[in-house]
Amino acid sequence: MVEDYPKTLLQMEERFATDEQCRDYLASLRWPEGFVCPSCEGRKGWPAGRGRLICAACRHQTTVIAGTIFQDSHLPLRLWFRAIWQVTCQKNGASALGLQRVLGLGSYQTAWTVLHKLRRAMVRPGRDKLSGRVEVDETLVGGETPGRKGRGVPSQAVVVIAAQEAGAGIGRIRLSRIPDASAEHLHRFIQSAVVEGSEVHTDGWKPYQGLGPLGYQHKVSKLKGQKPSAAAEILPRTHLVASLLKRWLLGTHQGAITPKHLDYYLDEFTFRFNRRTSASRGKLFYRLVQQAAQVQPAPYRILVGGANDLKHHG
Ligand SMILES: [Zn+2]
Repeated sequence: MVEDYPKTLLQMEERFATDEQCRDYLASLRWPEGFVCPSCEGRKGWPAGRGRLICAACRHQTTVIAGTIFQDSHLPLRLWFRAIWQVTCQKNGASALGLQRVLGLGSYQTAWTVLHKLRRAMVRPGRDKLSGRVEVDETLVGGETPGRKGRGVPSQAVVVIAAQEAGAGIGRIRLSRIPDASAEHLHRFIQSAVVEGSEVHTDGWKPYQGLGPLGYQHKVSKLKGQKPSAAAEILPRTHLVASLLKRWLLGTHQGAITPKHLDYYLDEFTFRFNRRTSASRGKLFYRLVQQAAQVQPAPYRILVGGANDLKHHG
């Protein structure tokens, strides 16, 4: 399929001036080979007004946004498209406050919900695992503890990082928040993020032991001494990713993120990082619209899990 996307703000404004134009674009991404009935997988349908489609085989009625993050939203699609443009065209993404201002949204809560639904779409369903040589290390997010990284300090979140080697640089990454840096959680993460048979490079933290029987080649580099620079020397890629992540959380989002919502921010960071070499911001826009047209809906109550936290999120 030819990747077709706007390259400038003006092109985006012209291309998606009406909700109908947005719907047509979504349909081309969701059903690149033509309509597929979500109920019977029939391939014939006809339009029935107001964006509805009726399956010729089973008469099931659907819309192009049914089952996507746009379902049940009271916002017009053209506003969603502008939100996606804002999120993808800025180097560091958008904060809820920034989005509220630019799009003239009535409430901070609406802007926050839009952003979090979009973050859900940043994880591509069925994405590939990392392979080859992969560095794995954990870091603490959400507060400062002086001295050596205290694995499992309760006020902070433990984030485990996998970074694929690409020559001297970094290929793709995977991030996950884990309850603690125990063997159980570290092993589970590695199995979900790294292809079996790959070389997994870690420091000497004991819980990493046992990767051999799980089918990995385990390379261990032990820290010499306690100086902070030691970790950067033995696992430079995960170390760099950790510092970029923390800088991004502090810069764009003022660091005010509870562990519960951190997962969404990790997804956005990963989405951006893994596409950092994309020549065009428009391509990032295209990817996000494409993925948003594929995922299941996330009602607001699932996103927040308690409305009291709202004011803390940026
Ligand atoms: Zn059908």
